[in-house]
Amino acid sequence: MKEIYRKAMEIWEVPEAFYEAALPMYREYEAALAVSFGRDPIPGREICRLLEEWGNADAECLLFESYQRNVLEKCEGGCSGEMCYRMTDFYSRYPYFAQYEPEAYAEFSQETVDSLNEWDLKVYMDRTAQAALAIAAGKDVPMHQTQYLTLQESFDMMDTLGEALIILPCNCKAMGRCTEKPVNVCINKLEKGPNTPYDRKLGTILTLEETKKLIRRINKKGLMQSGENNVLCNCDGVYCYPTKMARILGTRLHYPTSHYETLWDENLCVRCGKCTKICNFEAFYKDQAGKVKFDPEKCWGCTICSANCPKGAISLKKRVTEPGSNLTENR
Ligand code: SF4
Ligand code: SF4
Ligand code: SF4
Repeated sequence: MKEIYRKAMEIWEVPEAFYEAALPMYREYEAALAVSFGRDPIPGREICRLLEEWGNADAECLLFESYQRNVLEKCEGGCSGEMCYRMTDFYSRYPYFAQYEPEAYAEFSQETVDSLNEWDLKVYMDRTAQAALAIAAGKDVPMHQTQYLTLQESFDMMDTLGEALIILPCNCKAMGRCTEKPVNVCINKLEKGPNTPYDRKLGTILTLEETKKLIRRINKKGLMQSGENNVLCNCDGVYCYPTKMARILGTRLHYPTSHYETLWDENLCVRCGKCTKICNFEAFYKDQAGKVKFDPEKCWGCTICSANCPKGAISLKKRVTEPGSNLTENR
């Protein structure tokens, strides 16, 4: 590895074990910028001047690509009012690579992907586990993906977010190279400021009605709606980081918070097995004789089975217990 990359990797805070893996995520001029400026703000004009000096014809285009790929982020207010950029760290860059450069990411060995994700989950937990535990204990802490929503609650939330929304590839599923479930499912309020996907020309814009159709479609495919703070997540049970963390912390039902108890009426059930396919946690399952069964101890209260039971045999009952009063062990 060239020395310039080695120095840049330190600035990007790439763990040494991932220096080789990180190479395809960065370009040589980005390494040169990192070595020249570290993580300090750099005026956009200065970046373009240097890129031209280093023999790059379309400096503005390269600057935008580095910004779009989240190697650089915009920082406002510095450098006498002009637009400045600064290097992001590897923890910020890696999901963008997985989300938006899937062909290059597909070249990685499974072993590399597994160790990257093991490291990434650890950093994620170092930063968020305390907040997750506080939410599980009933405290009001702002965080991503903290409560499950019914379909209707998801639609109601969409109604508050405007007439158009921006849909992004889910970073948990992209990093896990998920192929079993839809990946373009992260639904965000359409915001246009610096460092937003819109400003980086990423994602797909859908109307409110198109977004609701998308939610209905992916709910049928077994993705669980959860959300607040202008983001509706559509999560699975394997790749989703909050779910992985909740498993480790043992916070099932409390983080992500479930507001509904699942009730199964065996008399209405026609044993079609749809719920056994849709549930991410095998709470509905088939026993050895092929008979449909329900184990409430495995249920996370996500509500998608009730939305998809063709006979109305699964209903929801609002929970009365406060979060945190009965933390479950689910390790
Ligand atoms: S929390 Fe859910 S929707 Fe959001 S990025 Fe992770 S799996 Fe995707
Ligand atoms: S989806 Fe409904 S009817 Fe079908 S097996 Fe499950 S509970 Fe029974
Ligand atoms: S059984 Fe529980 S975890 Fe499974 S789909 Fe239904 S509500 Fe979700």
